[in-house]
Amino acid sequence: MDFEAVIGLETHVQLKTHSKMWCGCANSFGADPNTHVCPVCLGLPGVLPVANEEALRLTALTGLLLNGTISPFAKFDRKNYFYPDVPKNYQVTQYDKPSTSGGWVEFEFQGGLARVHITRAHLEEDVGKNFHFDRESGVDFNRAGVPLLEIVSEPDITSAEMACDYLNALKQILIYGGVSDCDMEKGMVRCDVNVSVRPKGEKKLGAKIEIKNMNSFSGVRRALEHEIPRQIAVLRSGGTLSQETRRWDDTVGVTESMRSKENAHDYRYFSEPDLMPFVPDAAWLESVRARVVELPLTRKRRFMKDYQLPAPDAETFVNDVPLGDYFEDVARQGVQPKALANWVINNLRARMTESNTRLEDLKFPPTGIPELIALVDAGTISSKIAQDVFRHMFESGESPAGIVESRQMGQVSDTSAIEQFCDEVIAANPKSAEDFRSGKAAALNFLKGQVMKASKGKANPALVGDLLASKLNS
Ligand SMILES: [Zn+2]
Repeated sequence: MDFEAVIGLETHVQLKTHSKMWCGCANSFGADPNTHVCPVCLGLPGVLPVANEEALRLTALTGLLLNGTISPFAKFDRKNYFYPDVPKNYQVTQYDKPSTSGGWVEFEFQGGLARVHITRAHLEEDVGKNFHFDRESGVDFNRAGVPLLEIVSEPDITSAEMACDYLNALKQILIYGGVSDCDMEKGMVRCDVNVSVRPKGEKKLGAKIEIKNMNSFSGVRRALEHEIPRQIAVLRSGGTLSQETRRWDDTVGVTESMRSKENAHDYRYFSEPDLMPFVPDAAWLESVRARVVELPLTRKRRFMKDYQLPAPDAETFVNDVPLGDYFEDVARQGVQPKALANWVINNLRARMTESNTRLEDLKFPPTGIPELIALVDAGTISSKIAQDVFRHMFESGESPAGIVESRQMGQVSDTSAIEQFCDEVIAANPKSAEDFRSGKAAALNFLKGQVMKASKGKANPALVGDLLASKLNS
């Protein structure tokens, strides 16, 4: 019997706000423990939370970026549980009236397009972080109260690979929208994985097993690559699976049981009495709509269609947005897009990385690369010499024509000068000349190379080929 996996993901993303969700403490990573705390985020008695409006906007924006619906009425609820990293003994979240619902993430998968539907994206607060030392433990509450978006997917995912591709697509959308920096190293994205297996063709879902607190996408992949075959093996051997929460041990590479899953009522949810429901008005919604950006996949398709670029070039401009914007600005000057893309990706980007230069600090104007391409097209310089001209242009900001002129880098199309090089090369390489005359066409390329070398790369290569052939054939 064949089995299939059914996977849903709950992705927690820290929002890119200056301050925390309910207080004015900084939302920043890496400070000394318990230095970004106040009575509100420490959950001291008698304090009142004030909702961070930017967090509400970013949540609604996420709903729009994920093709979902912004709820006309959202509210906050208390989820009660006792953990050392939750100072209030409850977490404020959105239970039955989340800020956004529905939608989907579309991404390229196995040569086609895949779509994972979104159940909801709701706003909550992050909790503190436990640290365990040799003989004692400590809690850092700097993270407590940081706005956290939970994006719940439908169980549309069928493999570890698809889960990873979905997460990467989601991450890229959130970075594009300015919703979150999604810095994995700083724990800005964490994931709970729900996975079950069932016989192929079966409609009913198998026992849902949750793997908690995954903090890397590669971890999600490895955990699923372990967990799916484990569940199938249990069923194949006649065993049964029951709903539970498991933990992924990244060092050993196995999942292990943590606890049987709590049901929702264990959390004793009730409406947060200290916060008003959120009812966005038309002007507010419009201000959020104005922040919607072009999605990464749309951008990729547009670059491929409008500029006839191959997929890898378009992907480079999707992954490096400023570089792609620079390419577009220059492309509007009417230069051949593929030639421009080659210069921007192979030369400009490489030089910028080497010299740690930003686009806004470039010394040459946006007309520089088109001028350089025009010089190559006109046969004034060879594409090899153009690399040197680019280097000078990058360093000095001088115009390509000026560089070619002042350094006498122009291609030699003067027949008499090239003829002299050809004669010298034929005289110095009698064996190759003879090979060519006796029918070995490849010998011409060698001789051509020698002439190009003698002219320091400045001879017009087409002219060299013609002259050599006519001299050898005469
Ligand atoms: Zn605070």
